[in-house]
Amino acid sequence: MARTHYIAGNWKMNTSKAEAVKLASDLVSALKGKTNKFMIGVPFVYLDAVSQVVKGSNIILAAQDCAATANGAHTGEVSTEMLKDLGVQCVILGHSERRHEIGESDELINKKVRRALNEGLEVDLCIGELLADREAGNAEQVCAFQLSADLAGVTEEQMKRVTIAYEPVWAIGTGKTATPEDAEAIHKFVRGYIAKLYNQKVADEVIIQYGGSMKASNAPELLAQPDIDGGLIGGASLKAETFVPICEC
Ligand code: PEP
Repeated sequence: MARTHYIAGNWKMNTSKAEAVKLASDLVSALKGKTNKFMIGVPFVYLDAVSQVVKGSNIILAAQDCAATANGAHTGEVSTEMLKDLGVQCVILGHSERRHEIGESDELINKKVRRALNEGLEVDLCIGELLADREAGNAEQVCAFQLSADLAGVTEEQMKRVTIAYEPVWAIGTGKTATPEDAEAIHKFVRGYIAKLYNQKVADEVIIQYGGSMKASNAPELLAQPDIDGGLIGGASLKAETFVPICEC
């Protein structure tokens, strides 16, 4: 089954407005005409400015979170309506930094996933185990639990707008990367689990990205694995010179 390679950058809480605009315009030029799927996850406050830059390009604009509810009395929250108004097409949800720093539960992540999908957005859903889970031999169990909980109520049709990012938490921002074989084993498991939750067609079509210290030097080997269809990249997505080579893998 040929799946498009999907390379996404998660800028997290980084860049100034000027740097965000410059990075986005460098990426628009460098990725023009390339056929893989590309996305950038931009801080809320720069989405409007970056939206003007990526409009009409082959780069999908993503937010790094969204509210689980519609517009209303929810101080500090940002709704899917507001995001769509700015030209946002995708939302990164369930990132480990939101799960473990902010304390987002799978129940809340599921509400956000359903809200974003019901509003017509794409979702890049992050899952992955902590080091203690891996050392206890529970990596698959953790990913299975997160998938069932976070995708509860998501229809087969909506799964066409869902990408899964497998991000072992111990590999995020640490410089430690899962070996291609270890990453492939979990990706294969995740695809099999999606087949159990839905069916083989959904599993064959779903894009599963790897995330965790991916860079140009390790991306080719990771992306060569049969079930690794792309990457969600943090640190190396903050400069065009480190992100574009991954996009070109
Ligand atoms: C991430 O935050 O999704 C990520 C994978 O970060 P890094 O590439 O810096 O490990």
